[in-house]
Amino acid sequence: MALRFFNTLSRSVEDFQPLEDGHVRMYTCGPTVYNFAHIGNFRAYIFEDLLRRHLKFKGYHVTQVMNLTDVDDKTIRGAREKGVSLREYTKPYVDAFFDDLRVLGVEPVEYYPAATDHVQDMITLIHRLFERGLAYQSDDGSIYFSIAKFPAYGKLAHLDVSGLKAGARVAQDEYEKENVADFALWKAWDEADGDVYWDSPWGRGRPGWHIECSAMSMRYLGESFDIHTGGVDNIFPHHEDEIAQSEGATGKLFARFWLHCAHLVVDGRKMSKSLGNFHTLRDVLTRNYSGREIRYILMATHYRQSLNFTFEGLDAARAALQRLDEFILRLQGQATGEEPLTRLPIWAVEAKTRFADCLDDDLNISGALGALFDMVHAGNKAMDAGAFAAEEIWGVLELLDEWHQVLGLLRPEEESVDPKALAILELREQARKAKNWAEADRLREELTVRGWTVQDTAQGPKLKKV
Ligand code: AMP
Ligand code: ZN
Repeated sequence: MALRFFNTLSRSVEDFQPLEDGHVRMYTCGPTVYNFAHIGNFRAYIFEDLLRRHLKFKGYHVTQVMNLTDVDDKTIRGAREKGVSLREYTKPYVDAFFDDLRVLGVEPVEYYPAATDHVQDMITLIHRLFERGLAYQSDDGSIYFSIAKFPAYGKLAHLDVSGLKAGARVAQDEYEKENVADFALWKAWDEADGDVYWDSPWGRGRPGWHIECSAMSMRYLGESFDIHTGGVDNIFPHHEDEIAQSEGATGKLFARFWLHCAHLVVDGRKMSKSLGNFHTLRDVLTRNYSGREIRYILMATHYRQSLNFTFEGLDAARAALQRLDEFILRLQGQATGEEPLTRLPIWAVEAKTRFADCLDDDLNISGALGALFDMVHAGNKAMDAGAFAAEEIWGVLELLDEWHQVLGLLRPEEESVDPKALAILELREQARKAKNWAEADRLREELTVRGWTVQDTAQGPKLKKV
């Protein structure tokens, strides 16, 4: 079956082919590192992880970029309030973000560019917009994008901008559709920015949020690439403005497919910092749910459907995983001897086709999980009846391993590990590589105290709960 996705640009499901044969280039709006990410944000990152893993499963080579927004209105405000430098302020949140991704089993992407490392790219891009007559300077020295000069403005969010008052401007990074107006590309320094500024041909200042993603995506993926993702709240203004800046500067189509996930909601309202109805991943972990359980609940609803978060839902995720684990452990218990030739029973062949077809169909995860659970049911029945040949058991285990590459959920032993333990494990590896055995032993001891044992496997060291 052909791979297809719902493209926000056309509001329809379209067959997907990358621009370059066998290679998908994709950009994902990353976190604004002014606080700990909440599980709503992680819904977006887990949807993007499923997309990435499925593309790889299909045999594509994937180059994915996820930016870190470490300069914008919110990070500057936070640093000022704390009286520390921008970097000092954002660093712990960047570190926490990567720890959280690990706990959730999100596969690392190829590039994580930070906005503060790419300001020159942004300045160059703004230059190009000037050359094309799409940018202008306001009285306070800031640079704005003139939406009246870019007729395609509004094509992603499906806005009608015909009746707009020309020259109206919005300086904030975030604004609503009612305030659609020329938006800031470069913000002239003012007192609220403190020591956060860069020199530019237009004087001291800093980039607007939207130009960051245009500059960093094109730097790593080229002027036209395949897929751009984010949550639906990114459609306007962020992604609309990215299109205007990028296509305005290059005259080429920017991203071909725009995929957006619906929100994680609480009592019908978007989970967000500003509404105060959020849980960070850390909050939920301290209630004794594992990263794997949280991954399951965030992934198991189709990405375009909004998902209501409840702790009962998490309990259901736990129960579903337990069922899977029991099945896998039961199979492993019966898989004896050397791995022989593998063969799939007919019900597993059907499940295999259904699983792949469902994910090809705009990542229909409910269908894919349905195929998985139907197979668990059929497999348990076959084991009860003693009608499961050894090579079939190995075959089904192999299939589960294949599916694990896509779902990141099917290894019972991969319980989420606390990030500190992972960091210690990494240090132990370094000590071993340096043949510093005493230090390696000391670190192993430290892991034991924290409740972990190390198993050295062919795939490298693994942590297991004592
Ligand atoms: P931010 O750090 O606010 O820029 O958000 C990072 C990512 O999380 C973006 O892709 C947002 O669209 C997404 N996001 C924010 N809140 C939610 C939510 N409640 N549900 C799903 N995605 C969200
Ligand atoms: Zn972005």
